[in-house]
Amino acid sequence: MDTQMLIGSRFEKGTETEEHILNPKTGETVTDLPEASLSQVDAAVDAAEKAFKSWSQTTPGERSGYLLKIADAIEKDAAGFAALEALNCGKPIKSVLNDEIPAIVDCYRFFAGAVRNLHAPAAGEYLPGHTSMIRRDPIGVVGSIAPWNYPLMMMAWKLAPAIAGGNTVVFKPSEQTPLTALKMARLLSKILPEGVVNVILGRGESVGNALINHAKIGMISITGDIATGKKVLQAAAKTVKRTHLELGGKAPVIVFDDADIDAVVSGIRTFGYYNAGQDCTAACRIYADARVYDNFVADLSSAVASIRFNHADDTENEIGPLISRRQRDRVESFVARASEHKHMEITTGGKISGDKGFFFTPTVIAGALQDDEIVRREVFGPVVSVTRFSDADDAVAWANDSDYGLASSVWTKDIGLGMKTAARLQYGCTWINTHFMLVNEMPHGGLKQSGYGKDMSTYALEDYTAVRHVMINHG
Ligand code: NAD
Repeated sequence: MDTQMLIGSRFEKGTETEEHILNPKTGETVTDLPEASLSQVDAAVDAAEKAFKSWSQTTPGERSGYLLKIADAIEKDAAGFAALEALNCGKPIKSVLNDEIPAIVDCYRFFAGAVRNLHAPAAGEYLPGHTSMIRRDPIGVVGSIAPWNYPLMMMAWKLAPAIAGGNTVVFKPSEQTPLTALKMARLLSKILPEGVVNVILGRGESVGNALINHAKIGMISITGDIATGKKVLQAAAKTVKRTHLELGGKAPVIVFDDADIDAVVSGIRTFGYYNAGQDCTAACRIYADARVYDNFVADLSSAVASIRFNHADDTENEIGPLISRRQRDRVESFVARASEHKHMEITTGGKISGDKGFFFTPTVIAGALQDDEIVRREVFGPVVSVTRFSDADDAVAWANDSDYGLASSVWTKDIGLGMKTAARLQYGCTWINTHFMLVNEMPHGGLKQSGYGKDMSTYALEDYTAVRHVMINHG
């Protein structure tokens, strides 16, 4: 197991407080990893700054070649990466191997192609005697800070467009899930020139805080909590850094009375509980038409009760545990508070599972109302609420009545109604008759307090590059 950080071409351990890296399935410690000192943070930024001088001058074709090599190397060691990610996050191995790794490999391949095909308005003589042209140039050193729910995928979403665009990066994984980032550090050091990507470890309030306040960092890219995003913005104000924020969600799901209820039930069973609901797009806030509500709640509850988890034979498992005891207890407390209200009913689940690890039973809470905490706050666990509506305008208004604006879905056989509703929803993504599906060609990112950075797609490449105008006087 790789335990050392990458600073320039050097591998070294942090020198500060040790973090216990846990196996969420058992609660046992896998290893202890010390975090970086402030001088190690500075050294990583210096290495990235030095590397920027030559990396920013490489051609898109050259950078594309490096990205393709990274993709190939991950693909070649897919089993090793998947095993480590499963160990550190508690994910079922088949989810990592079959769902996540192919999407991660494709992310590097997508940006390898995209960077060779950037678009801009035509160069021309917009002022007589002068030719104008648009450039898209790198920003500089990017500080990238990732969460714990998809460590390797978040690393891909952040690194691939950043280095494709000609930037260099200091990457900090979540202090809870650094293992695959350290394995990536080894892989990257064999492929990329020295200093293009540096990987350092540490907690948010120490190492993360040093990065977001660092004078030599030109852009901060962070996926995390809204509160963390606000701290990034405050720090960025001091040096007017660029920021790329991806900050959680509370995805509404509108189920009209003509929807294929079997398809909705099967969809929510998957998309509400994938990764134990630790997903910012999780289909967690359902609004169901009163005419189908009772049947839907009954069918969904029995479908969710059949989700397989916490089996000794991991090939049986559809979902894993929560990431930590703290997160599991947080989820439990949301459910406990909901159950204190008479109008809500826990129709399945609602309790901690087993005596080791951080498992929580997949849960459906029926009868929720718009003002209930369970409808308004991000739980980030295997918990879905269902709210009844009688008027479609109410459903859309309630769906939009949220601080979040990341993802949403509409379920109906009437494609006109689906399109009309999608147009009224204030979310970065709306799916019709599905949920959760992502492709590297299309953007992922939010509105409102979900943030505004776009991951994946050429829009991400635009976020990680600066638009510049060059004008030539014909003389
Ligand atoms: P978090 O905000 O606690 O931590 C995210 C990262 O930020 C970690 O690496 C952490 O160390 C760092 N961090 C924390 N405080 C910091 C500070 N003061 N300065 C600098 N860095 C700091 O979030 P989390 O608990 O790791 O992840 C869960 C959250 O992330 C959820 O809210 C979830 O919805 C969100 N999320 C969003 C997306 C998206 O695409 N929008 C994707 C995954 C997760």
